[in-house]
Amino acid sequence: MADVVIIGGGVIGLTAAYELAGEGLAVEVLDQVQFGREASWAGAGLLPPGNLSHAKTPGAKLRAASHKLWPRLTAELREATGIDNGYVNCGGIEMRVGGPKGQLDDLAQSWRDEGVEIEELDTDSALELEPNLNPETVSAFRLPEKCQVRNPRHVKALVAACATRNVNLSAGTRVVGFTSSNGKYTGVRTTQETIQAGQILVCAGAWTGKLMASVGFQVPVRPVRGQMVLMSTNALPVRHLLGYGSRYLVPRPDGRILVGSTEEWVGFHKQNTAGGVAELLRFAATLVPSLVNVGFEQCWSGLRPESADHLPYLGSVGGTENLFVAAGHFRSGLQMSPASALLIRQTMLGQEPMIPIEPYAVGRSGSFSDGG
Ligand SMILES: Cc1cc2nc3c(=O)[nH]c(=O)nc-3n(C[C@H](O)[C@H](O)[C@H](O)COP(=O)(O)OP(=O)(O)OC[C@H]3O[C@@H](n4cnc5c(N)ncnc54)[C@H](O)[C@@H]3O)c2cc1C
Repeated sequence: MADVVIIGGGVIGLTAAYELAGEGLAVEVLDQVQFGREASWAGAGLLPPGNLSHAKTPGAKLRAASHKLWPRLTAELREATGIDNGYVNCGGIEMRVGGPKGQLDDLAQSWRDEGVEIEELDTDSALELEPNLNPETVSAFRLPEKCQVRNPRHVKALVAACATRNVNLSAGTRVVGFTSSNGKYTGVRTTQETIQAGQILVCAGAWTGKLMASVGFQVPVRPVRGQMVLMSTNALPVRHLLGYGSRYLVPRPDGRILVGSTEEWVGFHKQNTAGGVAELLRFAATLVPSLVNVGFEQCWSGLRPESADHLPYLGSVGGTENLFVAAGHFRSGLQMSPASALLIRQTMLGQEPMIPIEPYAVGRSGSFSDGG
């Protein structure tokens, strides 16, 4: 019997498995497809900064705690597996093209309020830093501590690191329900067998709401499709992560450039659309006009796990002793994975939580504002 069975082997389930196995527990992770091939593979790997001593909101706290943990986790994974996850501090620039100056003032102020370093840039200083930016950039600021990770490599490193901690990893194993006895959960039912477990942790990403509803629990998480485009070039036109509202460009050190991403409420459909890809290409050329001459490599999409208040669910499922959830990270699951995993480990093992866990309670009330 496993001490803990984890349902879902994305970045959240794998990091939690790594944490729990590090405490000497026998952990098994089940994934209905392959490990780390859903949202955690599809994402861009943007890792915004934070400052734990100034962070006020629950989202800012989880982001700041994770920001602090990323360098250590990266070093540990490299040491254990030899895999470089591509974590690097390349800095980010938030910018606006055309329109009135000062559009970014509120956003800049909110970073300052959080105690995060920012540098305001006018058109000249932005172009000095990044000469290929659109010369019509009217305002911008730099976030020197914004980092990136190569998320497909990171999940590969997590899988390998879990194996070094004897985590049992079963791909192609879909969980369809739970078993219980005397009011306590005793295991999970897959399409093939029943697996006994001391504790159960649901990390099923965008599928969490569906799985929990099938056993009578309301954990409102729904899929939001995000399309991505990948370009490649021999000479990167920019070095910083560029942000414009909810869209961004991510220059990878090997000459690739990611362009993301759409937000689409279309259920569990993962295909790319001509309109989505065209929009992203147009966006890329607005920020960096010379990108029209760069090679188009491929496109894909993934399903973000959206919760109603855009905060993850972390903790036990009300009224149960040994059923837990870590899911619903929406646009920030890669960034927030180190602290989320640590926090759920601390909760499951009755350890002192690194930050208060109550704001992420699974039973908090929440419904989507559009009624969906
Ligand atoms: C286009 C895009 C861009 C993004 N960019 C960023 C970014 O730059 N920075 C950032 O921090 N975040 C980003 N995100 C969000 C981030 O990717 C997610 O929040 C994060 O990956 C969620 O991780 P997860 O482990 O909860 O979900 P997933 O990675 O989706 O993993 C869930 C796993 O559960 C498995 N599963 C589901 N149901 C079952 C079942 N019944 N039985 C067994 N297995 C099951 C699935 O197969 C899947 O592997 C992005 C997402 C997308 C789509």
